[in-house]
Amino acid sequence: MSDDAALFEQLRASDLEMATIGWRLASSNAPLCDVLEPGLGLQIHTLDQFAPQLRASARSHFKFSTAVAIEGVIPGGPAAQAGLRPDDSLVRIGPVDIAASAGKPGTTQRLVAVQLAVAKLPPAETLEIQAIRDGAPLTVTVRPIPACRSRFELELADDFSASADGSMVQVSSKLLDTYRGDRAVAAIAHEFSHNILHHRVRLEARGVTFGMLAGFGGNVKYFRQTEIQADILSIYLLANAGYDPKAAPDFWRDFGPKHAGSVFNSRSHPHWRDRIATLEAEIAKVQADPARPHVSKLIAERDQPLDGDWQSLLVRHR
Ligand SMILES: [Zn+2]
Repeated sequence: MSDDAALFEQLRASDLEMATIGWRLASSNAPLCDVLEPGLGLQIHTLDQFAPQLRASARSHFKFSTAVAIEGVIPGGPAAQAGLRPDDSLVRIGPVDIAASAGKPGTTQRLVAVQLAVAKLPPAETLEIQAIRDGAPLTVTVRPIPACRSRFELELADDFSASADGSMVQVSSKLLDTYRGDRAVAAIAHEFSHNILHHRVRLEARGVTFGMLAGFGGNVKYFRQTEIQADILSIYLLANAGYDPKAAPDFWRDFGPKHAGSVFNSRSHPHWRDRIATLEAEIAKVQADPARPHVSKLIAERDQPLDGDWQSLLVRHR
């Protein structure tokens, strides 16, 4: 295998790992979400997201015969069940004409445009997908599973980062590679919780400042409230998706003491020891809850303005 081929396969494995985590969280927690998409169990990529010097070898390695191809399918998911495979190139997904999608070369604009167009389709209606496999046209019928509408993105980066912007969850490859045993999944579930609870718009409605100033002044109580809420909801998301929720306190037990002083431990976030205590208290509640799926009371409150009351949510470390 050439160097490029080894790199491409490594990329594919990492992207599929992230897509599988996203799939499990988004499909099993659909009843907790107010905006859905047709879950296809499909990881796509585009030729133009590759750097110019890699594009020719990416085209041949991934057998791109259109601008958009299947990078991977979630085992047992709707796309796999319909017979779609990695390296099938895409022509059309339902009414979405892939050739009509556009984006600046060297960016993920086209990828995002296709993902957003597909996400807006009805979440449970059968879709016809037209593809090209080894030069020959192929049409399959896919039966989507409703899933929370969210993109999950793996950022190739040599630092620990995880973020959510309201419609997308992004985690760095270093975090995913370092925190095995589902501990990285716990960090992803935390970020996903911010989106499910509409934290971005609710913080904006409070007029807070994002970025470096997030930990100062009157903003602090709102950020803390959203951080603790995201920790609490993450336990429900993990349990519903069949992950062990203990991965969440396990993540903080390792990450917390090593990264004191980073953004994860700034004043906008509670102390990691208190976060562990809060997570563990919520795990006990969820384990005693006979309902399926588990639904946090935070779901019913997600359209209310943030009141900044983080104290009543936080369980203190003793
Ligand atoms: Zn957070």
